[in-house]
Amino acid sequence: MIERLFKIKKYIPFGCYMTIFDIPFGKLYEEGKRKILIDVDNTMLPYDLKYPTDEIRKLFNDLKEMGYEIILLSNNNYERVSLVGDELGVSYFAKAYKPLKCGFKKALRKLNCDKKEIITIGDQLMTDILGSNRVGLDGILVKAIKRKTEKWYTKLNRKREENVLRRIGKYNLKKYDEIMSVRGENIEN
Ligand SMILES: [Mg+2]
Repeated sequence: MIERLFKIKKYIPFGCYMTIFDIPFGKLYEEGKRKILIDVDNTMLPYDLKYPTDEIRKLFNDLKEMGYEIILLSNNNYERVSLVGDELGVSYFAKAYKPLKCGFKKALRKLNCDKKEIITIGDQLMTDILGSNRVGLDGILVKAIKRKTEKWYTKLNRKREENVLRRIGKYNLKKYDEIMSVRGENIEN
């Protein structure tokens, strides 16, 4: 029981928001956060959109002005991630293999700061949040922008995510409700 509880904790996000635009970056900055590790696909952009939107460009400019350093951390390929990163003028790591620690560790070496200063942002419990918790980072979950376009392996992760969610529901109903409020049921949006 205790062991299972311990395991499930690794899937529990630090916070949950509908979109990246809803995250209270100002408040987080006041609390000492300075660095952002952010996922690309379905967190910032749907799979079928190549370039950052004007809203994303504005958000990134605002965040940089606020004093944040941002790094893109994506499991997608170099071609996809470099295009977005270069457009936004931020560093990036492609093929991060989340939830493995290796990609996070590369980003941590680059950031070279206290882990408490970092927030990670992503749309998947099985990759973004699990990986963040494994390396001791605060991971924020956002609702996937467009699930219909997800690749087969992400769809598989979504299935596994449902099992994890059921387990979270057993141990921590408040967190379960919080996650479900942004994740929703398994709707094809
Ligand atoms: Mg994603």
